[in-house]
Amino acid sequence: MSEFDLIRRYFTRATPGAMLGVGDDAALLQVSAGNVLAVSTDMLVSGTHFLPDADPFLLGHKILAVNLSDLAAMGAAPRWAMLAIALPPKDDGGADEVWLAQFSAGFFALAQQHGVELVGGDTTRGSLNLCVTILGEVPAQQALRRSGAQAGDEIWVSGCLGDAALALAHLQGRIALSAAELAACLPALHRPQPRVELGLALRGIASSAIDISDGLLADFGHILDASQMGAEIEFAALPVSPTLRGHAVGANELLARQCILSGGDDYELCFTVPAARHAEVESISARLNLPLTRIGKIVAGRGCIMHDAAGNPINIEARGYDHFR
Ligand code: ADP
Ligand code: MG
Repeated sequence: MSEFDLIRRYFTRATPGAMLGVGDDAALLQVSAGNVLAVSTDMLVSGTHFLPDADPFLLGHKILAVNLSDLAAMGAAPRWAMLAIALPPKDDGGADEVWLAQFSAGFFALAQQHGVELVGGDTTRGSLNLCVTILGEVPAQQALRRSGAQAGDEIWVSGCLGDAALALAHLQGRIALSAAELAACLPALHRPQPRVELGLALRGIASSAIDISDGLLADFGHILDASQMGAEIEFAALPVSPTLRGHAVGANELLARQCILSGGDDYELCFTVPAARHAEVESISARLNLPLTRIGKIVAGRGCIMHDAAGNPINIEARGYDHFR
C-alpha cells in the first residue's frame, strides 16, 4: 500500500466544515464571523508517553483527547485537527494496517463525538510518534486564559483527581489494586474525557482556566503565576474517587497524595470564578451531569497554601511531571 493509499483509506473522511480538507498542499478553513482561531499542539511519543505495544484504538482516542482538553481549557469550540504520524514498518517493510485501522477508529470515534474534522497532516516512517494540532474557535473576548484570576475568586476542579496516576502506579507495580479497583481507574488513564462542554459553558463566567495534564499543583501553579496571585486550597475538599480515597491511608498515604496533587494525566479543568457566580457553576454542573468541586480561593500575594481538615498546613513540595527535570 502506498503512502497515499494509506492516507486515503485511514485518514480521509468527509469534511463539510472545511473549504478544503485532506488531499491538497494545505487545508482551507474559515472561522465563524466574530470568532478567533484557537490552536494547540500535543504530541505522544512511544517510550515516553506510552509503551510501543499500547492499544492502538486507545492511542487514537488519547492523542485527540489531550488536544481537545487544551481547547476546552480555552473555552474554544473544536472544529478541525491535523495529524502528523511517524509509523514503524512491519517486518516485511509495509505499514501495519491492523494497527492503522484500530488507531484511526479510536481517533474518529472521539472526533465525531466532538464534531472535529481531520483536514490534513503528515505521514512518515519512523519510531512511533503521534502529533495532533487542534483548531477551534472562540469569540475573541470570551477565550479563557490563565491570567485572569482575581483575589476572592473561588477555585474549582471538574471530575476527580488522581485516578489515572493511580492506575499507572498499579501498572508499574508501585501499588496493588484489586481487579475491580483497576477497572474503576483505568478509563481515566486510557480514555480521558476532554471537558469540552464545560469549557464552553464557562465562557463569560470563569476568570481563568487550565487543563490538568501534569498534576493539579503544577498546572494550577501556572494560573497563579500568570495571574500573579496566591491561593488557599483545602486538601480535604479535593475530589477523589472512592478507590483512591480507600488507598489514601497507611503505607500508601504518600503515594495517594502524589497521585492527587501531582500525578498527571487527569485532563480535568481547573478554573476560577468570582464568588458571586457560585450558583452558576453549580447549575452548569447539574446541566452537564459533571461533578464540579470548589477546592479553595484565590488570595492576594503569591504561593499556594494547602490545609488539612484540621486547618494545619500541608507540605506540598510535590512537583508535576517535567520532561527535562
Ligand atoms: P505534501 O507532500 O504536499 O506535504 P503529503 O504527501 O504529506 O503532502 O500529504 C498529502 C495530503 O494528505 C495532504 O493534504 C496532507 O495534509 C494529508 N495527510 C498526510 N498525512 C495525513 C494524516 N496522517 N492524516 C490526515 N491527513 C494527512
Ligand atoms: Mg507532507
